[in-house]
Amino acid sequence: MDDRKPRYHPYDHPAGGWGAAAATAKALMKQSVLVKGSRALLSMNQPGGFKCPSCAFPDACHRELLEFCEQGAKALAFEATRHRVTRDFFARHTVSALREQSDYWLEMQGRLTEPMRYDPGTDRYVPISWDDAFALIGRHLRRLENRRQAEFYTSGRTPNEVAFLWSVFVREYGTNNFPDCSNMCHEPTSRGLPPSIGVGKGTCRLEDFDKTEAIFIFGQNTGSNSPRMMTNLAQARKRGIPIISINPMPERAMIAYTAPQNIPQMITFGHYDIASGFLHVKAGGDLAVMKGMMKAILEREAAGEDVLDRAFIDEYTLGIDAVRADAMAQDWAEIVETSGISEEQIRQFADIYIRSNATMICYGMGLTQHQRGSELLQQLCNILFLRGNFGKPGAGIVPVRGHSNVQGDRTCGINDRPRQQMLDNYERVFGFPVPREDGHNVQKAVEAMMTGEARIFIGMGGNFVRAVPDTERSYQAMSQLDLTVGINTKLNRGHVIHGREALILPVISRSEVIQTEKGEQALTIEDMVAQVTASRGTLEPASPDCMAEAEIVCRIAMATLPDSRTPWTEFAQDYALIRDYIADVFPEIYADFNERLKAPDGFFLDVPPRQRVFPTDTGKANFLVLDGLHADVPVDDPQMLRLLTVRSQDQFNTTIYSTNDRYRGVWGNRMVLFMNPEDREARGLQQEQVVGLETICDDGHKRMVSGLTVLDYPLPRGAVAGYYPELNPLLPIEFVDTLSGTPAAKSIPVRVIT
Ligand code: SF4
Repeated sequence: MDDRKPRYHPYDHPAGGWGAAAATAKALMKQSVLVKGSRALLSMNQPGGFKCPSCAFPDACHRELLEFCEQGAKALAFEATRHRVTRDFFARHTVSALREQSDYWLEMQGRLTEPMRYDPGTDRYVPISWDDAFALIGRHLRRLENRRQAEFYTSGRTPNEVAFLWSVFVREYGTNNFPDCSNMCHEPTSRGLPPSIGVGKGTCRLEDFDKTEAIFIFGQNTGSNSPRMMTNLAQARKRGIPIISINPMPERAMIAYTAPQNIPQMITFGHYDIASGFLHVKAGGDLAVMKGMMKAILEREAAGEDVLDRAFIDEYTLGIDAVRADAMAQDWAEIVETSGISEEQIRQFADIYIRSNATMICYGMGLTQHQRGSELLQQLCNILFLRGNFGKPGAGIVPVRGHSNVQGDRTCGINDRPRQQMLDNYERVFGFPVPREDGHNVQKAVEAMMTGEARIFIGMGGNFVRAVPDTERSYQAMSQLDLTVGINTKLNRGHVIHGREALILPVISRSEVIQTEKGEQALTIEDMVAQVTASRGTLEPASPDCMAEAEIVCRIAMATLPDSRTPWTEFAQDYALIRDYIADVFPEIYADFNERLKAPDGFFLDVPPRQRVFPTDTGKANFLVLDGLHADVPVDDPQMLRLLTVRSQDQFNTTIYSTNDRYRGVWGNRMVLFMNPEDREARGLQQEQVVGLETICDDGHKRMVSGLTVLDYPLPRGAVAGYYPELNPLLPIEFVDTLSGTPAAKSIPVRVIT
């Protein structure tokens, strides 16, 4: 294990480069798959190969020999690992003992190998046959009279075919309870963008990076969370394109980046300076920056400058007058105070925006995880509308998605608030009555568990209980359920925080071959630019007792709905048949699915704003006003700091690859608190002093985390940062984005306790 003494010192090497190469080799060796893993990496993100199981960044049309990044390689290494969690392992460890282990330790134990059932008598997991496991699940589900008492979770790793089957089974069962991982990250994209542009997806493709004249990146750590995008940014910088990073945390990759595939740069230890401009915005200060940019642009328009795309605005939009009035009414002093950015700097970046005829605005959870996250995205659309930055090359909005198929799951029916038209299609195609009532997203599912309304939780992948907020209350709620089922590749917290009855069902992973009676099966993934590509595993499954996710859904359905006329048996054997049904239920999106999939690079789903078609309620792109300057509800407490929970370089969502975060200068410790040195001194604290944090919230629940090592970091005054999920106990389940229910994990009001 990684138990060296923690070390802290700045990382002054470029991101990427030799550091990435070394980290890749280390991950493969740590999992004892240097040869097996290296061979598999040659098939990752390649035609005929498998899609990276990590983030949702698209593949370039012209593939490199090595079409992956350090994070993708780690995800593959930990999936292809030689380490195994067998029945002997469970016989050696009580669940209580496993609960004491770190997330990293659990992850390092390896791949699950056979179905296991929790035995309360011995406090251990014991083997169970697949048939008995499905029968147990069927019994529990059939027992529920109120079908809304069951929660069906979807991880963003779930491929299209499996997500669709999950959506059919759960609706035939009788509920729309679809908590899914996007509820915790890009749900504001799905709920916030449609009122503005008519779709909840990004409108750009990779080639737009080659044609753009300016790139703004709000609240996204590209170098760690979508590293291959660094190649596109580096190419844009080489063209002299301004790249502006707006982030409370200066991230290493935005400062200096070496492209691992650029041999001359690697040999000469050269690097690119990526960001040409950096706005060191206060936590929650993004709205003030956006309003400031709009005000600067509209003041120049008022001064007679031709800075707006009048033709676009007049023909394709509605509502500019209200937005102009709101922006012009803002006070510069308040904008500067709230954003932490000078008027001069905001005007400078507005000028960069005005001088560009094609601008892309990219964003991540630094924007979505605020109490007004969804509406913040609408302000980005306002800015883009002012200069007609939709429906032309090099322009548009780019939600940088975190999980490989999180967008595809939504497209294929995983939606707790489905449109009635979509439900009509399910009824037309499958002939069973579908539930018309909205279901539960993650927040509502956790609340239903807390009140005891929910009785059953089934997780298709993921590590739900570790990913959600309000850890202590969520753990307690999960443990009082009648049944919890974890359908996973690896051991995680969700298996040791479990219901009265609990099952672990091991799956065949993305990089492994799926063989059925109909032969080898391909899955499909929709990436963040709405490109749908096939994914075919190349490795042997980790165990003969691992089962394909699609078959697991079909077997659960058959065990739960014995009278169902849905072709579950056929679906389990033939994924092309599943795609035919997807095309039937979603004809406007997926017509001729299998035919279109024959193209080597798959195909793109239609995103109407790329053609300047805005399928909103008005049929136009809508300028929308968001009052005020604050992205979150102000908190009046002199000791208050805004906590941002972030991921490290050696982490993917709740999966911990190591306890290091080299780009931020941290080795061997995840219980750290990054703090502005002046805020530290103002509280009489020392560098590396160990402190606690307490949430400022008056809901009667005490939320504290202790044992945090204070580290100076160039954060703006008033902001502190620490790792997700370790700091999730500080995040109230009710502290969410109003429109989407996404946890506001980038602005938690806390105070330091010593
Ligand atoms: S950028 Fe994302 S999808 Fe691409 S290899 Fe890296 S982790 Fe995988």
